[in-house]
Amino acid sequence: MMEEVKAQDFQKRRKRVQTLKKLIVGIWVASMCIPVICCVILFVKVHELNHTLTELGKQLEDLSTSVAGLESAGEYEAMGEGYARVGESSGDGVYTMDSVENASMDMLADAVPDAEAREMEAREAAHKVYLTFDDGPSIYTQEILDILDRYDVKATFFVVGKEDEASKEALMQIVERGHSLGMHSYSHKYSELYQSVDAFAEDFQKLRNYLYEVTGVESNLYRFPGGSSNTVSRVDMQEFVDYLDQQGVTFYDWNIASGDGSTGSLSVQQLLKNSTKDIEKWHTAILLMHDAGDKRSSVEALPMIIENILAMDDTVILPITEETTPVQHIHTNINQ
Ligand SMILES: [Zn+2]
Repeated sequence: MMEEVKAQDFQKRRKRVQTLKKLIVGIWVASMCIPVICCVILFVKVHELNHTLTELGKQLEDLSTSVAGLESAGEYEAMGEGYARVGESSGDGVYTMDSVENASMDMLADAVPDAEAREMEAREAAHKVYLTFDDGPSIYTQEILDILDRYDVKATFFVVGKEDEASKEALMQIVERGHSLGMHSYSHKYSELYQSVDAFAEDFQKLRNYLYEVTGVESNLYRFPGGSSNTVSRVDMQEFVDYLDQQGVTFYDWNIASGDGSTGSLSVQQLLKNSTKDIEKWHTAILLMHDAGDKRSSVEALPMIIENILAMDDTVILPITEETTPVQHIHTNINQ
């Protein structure tokens, strides 16, 4: 009897152990399979989502290309200012779509928001600074252009009549690199230039035609040698101003002088100080500098001048265009 009871107990225990074993194996199998199944499901989902994302990306690209195309057609005109190019004038001296027909639409789509943002910033800036270089081209023009490029700023060159090959190349570079080209008389000889309105007109036409031949730009900007306040001219300066008006040309003097025009060269530090200390007094600050063979220190000071101006609050550097508020010594201008 005792033997029988023992055998039954043994049987029961064995069954329990077997059940426990099955349970453990079951749990083990489940713990292996569930993550695998989950992974497979997730993999399929990710694949589906990737596909959807690619489709949406394509749609977005198509959409933005067509929007950019529409915008650039209307707004690119505002990007080039200051002078009219041969065969490309739209009447008010701006580039038209014809002048950029070779540029791809992709480039335009990239350029337009940038140009727009810059234009907006420039329009609203409290201080607009115009770097101007008189008397060029010179042996330093290329170096000045390289410095300006390095800081991505545009300037204005008031040039004289120099017809050697290097000067022609420099004139073309000024235009090609997006700077404004202004006139500073062909001869730069005060005694001839200011003799009479006829003499002035002859010199003016000679330079304007020459620049047009070389660069394709018909300049509308003028700076009188010695400024409009010079004391050399025996003829009333207003007569020359009237003549320029008739030609559709605006003259620009300066309200800040770097001091590089004076005899005896100033130190780089002095040029920097002269060029920057009064900028915040002006809404329109036109800075006079020289692009001339004996003005090496101006080239050396230029990077620091630009860096200092760019670091000023609410201040931008711009090229002179027909829209720039003129600074004119013989006229008081309340908008400066
Ligand atoms: Zn000069």
